[in-house]
Formats: sequence, structure tokens, C-alpha cells
Amino acid sequence: MRLSRYFLPILKETPKEAEIVSHRLMLRAGMIRQQAAGLYSFLPLGKRVLDKVCAIIREEQNRSGAIELLMPTIQSADLWRESGRYEDYGKEMLRIEDRHGRDLLYGPTNEEMITDIFRSYVRTYKDLPLNLYHLQWKFRDEVRPRFGVMRSREFLMKDAYSFDLDYDNSKIAYDRMFVAYLRTFERCGLKAIPMRADTGPIGGELSHEFIVLASTGESEVFCHRDYLDLAVPCEGVDFDDAAGLAEIVKAWTTPYAATDEMHETATWDQLAEDDKLAARGIEVGHIFHFGTKYSEPMKAVVTGPDGKDVPVHMGSYGIGPSRLLAAIIEASHDENGIIWPKSVAPFDVGLINMKPGDADCDAACEDLYRQMQAAGIDVLYDDQDTRAGAKFASMDLIGLPMQVIVGPRGAKAGEAEIKLRATGERQSLPLSSVLARVQ
Ligand code: ATP
Ligand code: MG
Ligand code: MG
Ligand code: MG
Repeated sequence: MRLSRYFLPILKETPKEAEIVSHRLMLRAGMIRQQAAGLYSFLPLGKRVLDKVCAIIREEQNRSGAIELLMPTIQSADLWRESGRYEDYGKEMLRIEDRHGRDLLYGPTNEEMITDIFRSYVRTYKDLPLNLYHLQWKFRDEVRPRFGVMRSREFLMKDAYSFDLDYDNSKIAYDRMFVAYLRTFERCGLKAIPMRADTGPIGGELSHEFIVLASTGESEVFCHRDYLDLAVPCEGVDFDDAAGLAEIVKAWTTPYAATDEMHETATWDQLAEDDKLAARGIEVGHIFHFGTKYSEPMKAVVTGPDGKDVPVHMGSYGIGPSRLLAAIIEASHDENGIIWPKSVAPFDVGLINMKPGDADCDAACEDLYRQMQAAGIDVLYDDQDTRAGAKFASMDLIGLPMQVIVGPRGAKAGEAEIKLRATGERQSLPLSSVLARVQ
């Protein structure tokens, strides 16, 4: 992509309304624009990162055996009356009336709708286990939308829903998602710690929030230092091996970790002071087993091996990809801007022509640009006629992992400079070696 033809509205001034660094940097780097309170457009650069994050989420969901579908954003109130949540949900739900006077709502989550889909087609335990997910916009009329896409009113969610014959099988489904989440967040360059979370009025042991530690996080959390060194399961992890999954979950739930609602001071006090990590965190994911809470009232039953009908056991599993963008920036930035982990960077390489109009610079850059494109490298080519200082500042701000800098003197000598965004490390090398270096 040539910067001269791209849409990258970088802001020079620091926006006053932004209280935390990720919000500031997302606005300044031209990633998002607020359209109304808690409603954001994702501008081209932001959209690229969002797509990368969603691609990682999809890969890991699919690998774990979940199946993607797509449900609408608007739902019928009648479905929610069946589960009893229409009245209970309160003011966070955006209620809408259509021209015929029918009650609709903008979905804040999809348990009811997925249960309706399930009960319409599945009759027997032989079709289980089943895990269906989608990536879809949600709306929650948050009392205090803030921090940009960290807590917006319209936000993207990946929500998966598992269906199993009984508790034991639904625990396996839970473990699968647990492991898929560990891998997903790691691939996004984050250290997310699963913490025991409140299950609300339903009770039970099975609920974990995945929390990224950050001083700007809205949750107060308590965990054992050991989490910082625990190994994340590798790509080859076997999602059909229930015992293996249970082992991993055990290792990741044994050291103490709890959000403040679940915090037990007595247990905490027994830990050695050096092992304690009392911090703030960002909830990036939440997995939840709720058994027959929806299947019972909504009559989602299957015939078991004994011929009897039983309500299915369900769980739901959410990740907020739009919030993840902000969480990644909170975890990875410096005073000059964002530092994207490679896996989610909007472009792989930023190619900087320090002096457009200079014949050697132009020739060298055009050639590198062509080579990189042919090799399938996502490159943002700054071919604009602006000051070199401004170019460097913008490139650092948008945080591409690698910069290739071509100046008139270097170009004449057949050389370019590579700069790694994360470390600032620079290296000069022949133009002919650049492609191999950035690949
Ligand atoms: P929070 O405690 O931050 O309000 P939640 O517990 O209400 O979140 P869940 O119902 O567990 O959220 O939704 C699953 C995921 O969706 C969350 O873990 C988070 O990543 C994301 N999410 C929830 N609310 C928002 C929001 N207002 N803006 C952006 N992402 C959100
Ligand atoms: Mg909430
Ligand atoms: Mg929460
Ligand atoms: Mg939650």
C-alpha cells in the first residue's frame, strides 16, 4: 500500500478526551473515530488489526472443534421472554420497536438465539458434542462507556456456545475452550491469566475470566506470580484428548488467581509476600458453564442413550476482539507510539522513502516495494513528500514491527537501513539483502 493513496488520518495533537494510553494512541494513529458516545468507526488501519485478531480467534476456535455461523445483531424480544431475561437484563439492553409494534432488541449476547437454533434441529445425543460460535457486533448501553474501544457500547464479540449431554461432557467442552483461549491470547502477544470469576446467581465452580494485567485495567485482581512463567500449550495440542486438556486446565488453575468478587483473603494471606501479585487487569475473555439454565425453560432437549429426553448442558465463551486491540496496546507501547506484536500488526513492514523526487531513492524504493509485494509481504510504503522527521514519527506511532529506511546517500551506495520498532535496533545492509531480511 502506498501511503499517498491510503487513508491514514494521523492526529498531531494528543486528543484531550483520551484518559488512557491505548485510547490516545488509537486516535492519534488514525485507527478509530468516535461517532457518538461509545460508538466507533474502525478506520482502515484499525480495521486491519481487528481482522488479524479475528483471524487468530477463528483459527483457534476452529482448531478446538467449534463451528462458525453468523446470527443477526437484532433479536426478537419474545425469545428473551422465554428465558425470563427480557425483564431482568435492565437498562444495558437497547430495546427497539419495529413499524408493526413488535419488540426487538440489539443483542447484548446470544444464549437465547443459539438455544433456539439448537432446539430447532438437534434431537439426539448422537449429534453431540456441538460448539457453535460467531463473531458479531453486540450492543450494551454501558452506564459509562469510556477508554475508547476498551469499553464501548457497540463492540465486537466472539461468542461460542457448547451443547453436551451431561455435566461431565460439558466440562470437556469447557476445557477445550479454556485451552483455545490460552493459545489465542498468547498468539495476540498477550499474557492473559485465567482467574476464578463470579458465576452470579447460577453458582458452580466453572467460570473464568481471562485477564491481562495492566495498571489501567478496570478490575482489581489477585494472583500468584507463578502464572507469569506457565507454559502455554503448543499448536499440536490434542483437542480430542480429554485427559490431556484437563491436565492443562489443572496446571493453569492451581496457583491462586481471583478477581476481587471471588477473592478469598484467608487463602491469599497464606501466600508468601514475594509470590503475591495484586494488580489491576483488563477482562479480555470470559468462559462460563451454566448447565441447563437456558435449555430447561426453552426446552432444548435431546434423547439420551436410555431413550429419555434431557435438557442439554451448555456453556458460553466470550472474547472481545475490539477490546483486545486496546489491551494489546496497553501491554505494548513506548513514548513514541504503538509496538505491534508481529502476529497482529496492520502491515509487516514500513518502507520509508526519505526523499521522494530523488532519482536514486525513488528507484531503490520502487524496486523494494515491488519485491516485497511479490513476496507477499504486507508493506506500507511512505512515498509522500513530507519531512523525514515527520515520517519517522508517524511510522513509530503506528508501530509496524520493521522499518526499511532509504535515504539519498544510502540509495546511491546501494544500501538501506532496517529498524526494529520494538528495540530501536538499526542495521545497514545492501539493497539486494533487504528482501531476505524482512521475510
Ligand atoms: P465487563 O466486566 O468489562 O463489563 P462483561 O463481564 O460484562 O465485561 P462478558 O459478558 O463476559 O463481559 O462478555 C465477554 C467479553 O466481551 C468480555 O470479556 C470483553 O472482552 C468483551 N466486552 C464486554 N463488554 C464490552 C464493552 N463494553 N466493550 C468492549 N468489549 C466488551
Ligand atoms: Mg459488562
Ligand atoms: Mg466482567
Ligand atoms: Mg464477563
